[in-house]
Amino acid sequence: MCGTLDQYLSSFARIRVDRSRGSWTALTNRASPYKPFLLLSILDHIASGQITKNFIEPSFELTETFQEYIALLPHNDRKASMSYPFYHLESSDFWEMIPRFGEEHRKGRSISSMKRLRELYLGARFNKDLFMLLQMEHAREKLRAVLVQTYFSPAIQPTIWQQSMINCGSTKYAFGLLGTSEVDAGYLLRANAAECAAKVRDQGFRKAIVRLYAHRCALCGIKMLTSEGRTVVDAAHIIPFSENRNDHPTNGMALCKLCHWSFDEGLMSVDTHYDVMVSPAVKKDPNLPGHILTLSDRPIFRPTESRFWPAQESFAWHRKQRFRKRD
Ligand SMILES: [Zn+2]
Repeated sequence: MCGTLDQYLSSFARIRVDRSRGSWTALTNRASPYKPFLLLSILDHIASGQITKNFIEPSFELTETFQEYIALLPHNDRKASMSYPFYHLESSDFWEMIPRFGEEHRKGRSISSMKRLRELYLGARFNKDLFMLLQMEHAREKLRAVLVQTYFSPAIQPTIWQQSMINCGSTKYAFGLLGTSEVDAGYLLRANAAECAAKVRDQGFRKAIVRLYAHRCALCGIKMLTSEGRTVVDAAHIIPFSENRNDHPTNGMALCKLCHWSFDEGLMSVDTHYDVMVSPAVKKDPNLPGHILTLSDRPIFRPTESRFWPAQESFAWHRKQRFRKRD
């Protein structure tokens, strides 16, 4: 199909959505929000510069954005898989699946996991003229408005608009922290509610840190990533943001839940040689997890580029202010 903006606005308003499950509430007009959420996620990635070519990969980042939207629903579906809308969007007249070499595209398959989707498909593409329209902000925002207004009730629309802004703003904030673009202060300013600005900042810092550490915990080295876009690591500040308002990646590390808690509690720290320090308190208390002891004196995992290594000044602060030197 070769279409104008008006035709695509109409296509976006007529996406085939599943209404068979009795569980969809009035918030999503009693229909599945998966396809609209996927399209909103893609629009966010185009707006923030993460998607620049007409080749939509089922990437970790895209699944993560999709899950941010799913999490807005009150009883959100923790098992929601992006594979479903990604594959079934083929019933629309603007979406084409791209099979892997040697695989053929077949309609009506049952693909229920991202793993399976990635085994069979490289990704998908929009109609060429739609992708061109999506490069233009005014067209993209009109298409976004149709998705929000058609598939969601007025009660949840403001939350979805806000999430779109947080998704775009946090990615631009992350690009700024990584030095790939100027920090876009505009999103922080436009995020007029303080809570919203904090989310842009938090998620932006998280995106930058998780990318630098490739989902690996700096202290114990664990790396766990589900195919649906969930990771074991948090982005941790070494000196808390409340102390010095410093989001630079050199004031952060990716840490798994246990290491994050242990670091914040002062049970672990890092010495001047970038080796792990474990507090004597861990040895004394039989209730504290003993396997932390095995990490003592091991080098931490650092980003490839030394300019992003955690700053020794930040570790000096942590050793002085947080680390439990005695039991
Ligand atoms: Zn860890």
